[in-house]
Amino acid sequence: MPVKVSYDQDCKMTITGVDCACGCEHHAIDKDIYIGKDLLPRIPEYIRKRGLGANCVLVADDNTWRVAGERVEKALVEAGFTVVNCVIHREGDMLPDDLSCGEVLLSITRETEFLIAVGSGTVTDTTRINAERTGLPFVSVGTAPSMDGYASAVAPLLHRGLKIQRPAVCPEIIVCDLDVLATAPLCMIASGVGDVLGKYIAKADWQLGEIINGESCCPVCVEMVTNAVNALVDNVDEIAAKTEKGMRVLIEALLLAGVTIMTTDNTRAVASIEHNIAQYWEMILVQQGQEPPMHGASVGVSTLLVWPMFERFAKEDLSKLDLEDIRARRISREKRERWMHHAYGDEGGNQIMRENPGDFLTWEEQERRIRTAQERFGDIQAVIAAMPPLTKIRETMLKLHAEMTPEEEHIPEDLLRRSMHCGKDYRTRYTLFKLIDECGLLEEYLADYPYPFA
Ligand SMILES: [Zn+2]
Ligand SMILES: [Zn+2]
Repeated sequence: MPVKVSYDQDCKMTITGVDCACGCEHHAIDKDIYIGKDLLPRIPEYIRKRGLGANCVLVADDNTWRVAGERVEKALVEAGFTVVNCVIHREGDMLPDDLSCGEVLLSITRETEFLIAVGSGTVTDTTRINAERTGLPFVSVGTAPSMDGYASAVAPLLHRGLKIQRPAVCPEIIVCDLDVLATAPLCMIASGVGDVLGKYIAKADWQLGEIINGESCCPVCVEMVTNAVNALVDNVDEIAAKTEKGMRVLIEALLLAGVTIMTTDNTRAVASIEHNIAQYWEMILVQQGQEPPMHGASVGVSTLLVWPMFERFAKEDLSKLDLEDIRARRISREKRERWMHHAYGDEGGNQIMRENPGDFLTWEEQERRIRTAQERFGDIQAVIAAMPPLTKIRETMLKLHAEMTPEEEHIPEDLLRRSMHCGKDYRTRYTLFKLIDECGLLEEYLADYPYPFA
């Protein structure tokens, strides 16, 4: 049965056709997701249905307070809720840093029963970590379709100036009002689209992991993500015009990405090398005290960067590989350790190596992977052939006036080059980049990189 998304009379999302017998563990989706028009006045009703209580802290920043927070508070107070407002005031953009997290924490009292985040990435993550640490449930009211983190259980934060990812919790209720989302500036919408376009890469990499390493690849998650990203490419004009349909297609895609994480407890379907590279840019720029590009915007750019590698590999002749030569050129464990410290810093490099102990391959394992790739090259080509043409992705992004190149995102040349080399080393997760490296071809592929866009 194909996966189908529908809505009941309360605008609550139901997903059917998700029964699956693949090797991944699956959980039922037990969160309430609402997408529709005029939803803000209905939030009290949604909260009562879920039985979260009547005493809350509402978190917003100056902007999201104006766009929706004020109306959410009014609806809650009129319905008899007790609301403590935590509106975070900043000169520039609010950051998910120690200060913001602390402001939310100190707004929580012993009487608080739940939290409600009105905003997009920053406000939601700041609330999410507090929800996790206090054990209180939280409600997310989306204000921009800019990233796929609403339904996520991980909080990217800034701690003492360093970018960190902390396990946290998913909101119990997610409310996305289409008129509110349409007030988001086009650059935030383009960012959301960039985040979703990266799923083509994540999907292909997951399928490669299945081919080379026998990894379980969930067909239902793949279908959900594929439908969502295809719908987005097909409706880019509606999205650019911020129509009701366009906003629905985009927020659905962003939320469904999260749903695949909820069902499998794994971000495999939604993030791969394109996210590693984008996160690397962000990490280094933050360390240097610079403001990084928006998450989805840089995922979009890195998706354009890695895409030609797939197209090139599909034309490769793996029968020509000289295994003795590849073996002779293998880097030693010591050299790899030095490289990891160089790329990720001493602390970061050690942590990544500790968390991914299997990442330094024995020659036997490398040889097995090369031989598998040779034997199953037709399957690999089929995975790549299923990706849409790169021109289509570029067109989609151009229609939204998205950032297209690392230069536009102020990524310095050396950072760009390093990220293309070290993105694959961020975790064990299998990617085409790892395969190219294992086949001894990475230096050749990256020698004249980034490829000029025709
Ligand atoms: Zn993302
Ligand atoms: Zn499955």
